[in-house]
Amino acid sequence: MRILIVGSGGREHALAWKLRQSAKVEEIFIAPGNGGTALEGTNVPIKVDDLPALVAFAKEKAIDLVVPGPELPLVLGIKDALDLEGIPCFGPNAFAAQLEGSKAFAKNIMQEAGVPTAAFGVFEEFSEARDFVLDKGAPIVVKADGLAAGKGVIVAQSTDEAIQALEEIMVQKSFGDSGKHVVVEECLVGEEASFICFCDGHTVKPLPSSQDHKAVYEGDTGPNTGGMGAYSPAPVLPASRYDEIIESVMQPVVNLLGTKDKPFIGILYAGIMMTKNGPYVLEFNVRFGDPECQPLMMRLDCDLADVMMACVQGKLAQTPLPIKDETTLGVVVAADGYPGSYPKGMAISGIKEAEALGNVKVFQGGTAIEHGQTVSTGGRVLCVTALGADLAAAQKRAYEALKFVKMDNAYYRKDIGFKGFK
Ligand code: ATP
Repeated sequence: MRILIVGSGGREHALAWKLRQSAKVEEIFIAPGNGGTALEGTNVPIKVDDLPALVAFAKEKAIDLVVPGPELPLVLGIKDALDLEGIPCFGPNAFAAQLEGSKAFAKNIMQEAGVPTAAFGVFEEFSEARDFVLDKGAPIVVKADGLAAGKGVIVAQSTDEAIQALEEIMVQKSFGDSGKHVVVEECLVGEEASFICFCDGHTVKPLPSSQDHKAVYEGDTGPNTGGMGAYSPAPVLPASRYDEIIESVMQPVVNLLGTKDKPFIGILYAGIMMTKNGPYVLEFNVRFGDPECQPLMMRLDCDLADVMMACVQGKLAQTPLPIKDETTLGVVVAADGYPGSYPKGMAISGIKEAEALGNVKVFQGGTAIEHGQTVSTGGRVLCVTALGADLAAAQKRAYEALKFVKMDNAYYRKDIGFKGFK
């Protein structure tokens, strides 16, 4: 089997690493890839949003399966473009990808499917959104409808703050077209967890729960990032509740998209708030989370290529999804200053030594290999991921491994996994 992975983060390194373990996979290409994916396959200099070039490459190389990592190519319709050429794609079509690409679409689908989610309104007119905020009161959540790199959500503690967010999004148009519509919703209280499932259009099979750490500083303080670390399972979402979430959230959405003749294939990721009234959906993503993917790939105890092909062929029900019983935990090493401005081009060493500890894998994100040396190219550089018998053991091992990794101007959180001990 010949596979093309699209993307360049730690998530794509983890997918390439796992897919390379399959005896059926002969060749892996990663577009555009990074310093880590270069060790698992061949990097190809094509951007994730250059659909014509990606499709042409997949045709030229007789690719058997395309695996888009990030949401952008999915929302732009890579699956639909590949369908026209008869090339299988592990990911949803552009219609279903709106579950992530449009928060208004996702809320309307949830409402239609009867999925528990915060009460909401969708607005195109600033004055109507403002009146809704004044009517509901604070705290209240304001969300730009479209993709905004995780920055389009404001959890407002006062109506003034909410109205200011509406002004920025709807009047000053700080998110461009992504803010043409705005979702305003009730503020939920609870702890968050990620519930990530494989889907084949009909059947849904869950990976174990996980939890990421979005805030840049310890104790979940400071600005939000793409994710500073993650671990699996998340005790706040125990296995005893998976069936309930499949029945109340995942299956109704997949069934509804099926009846619209737009089957959902690929990864359906629900960001769940565990409230005192049960699990509520905060958001859907239509791909693996980064960094959740890294610890999840370390727990997956089967051939990922088999599972992905089963999804594409509608055979997920017959395909087992064994998972290692242990806990995995990944700590992101970032460049100091991220998510603000940060230096690039730092030399990285000690990855082999960290991995030599055993049950450790260093997934690379913002890296490249220059003249034989691995250097940083982005804000989130590495994800040092470890497996242990329980959360304490996985955490201990990840931080032990981190001591071997050397990079100037490195920053990482010292408390990844802390919520799991509560
Ligand atoms: P991501 O960076 O995960 O893509 P996003 O921009 O798609 O995020 P959401 O996940 O919808 O946006 O919201 C971001 C964060 O805002 C959530 O992780 C949660 O912490 C908070 N949030 C969103 N909706 C609510 C809500 N209704 N009540 C309380 N907090 C919320």
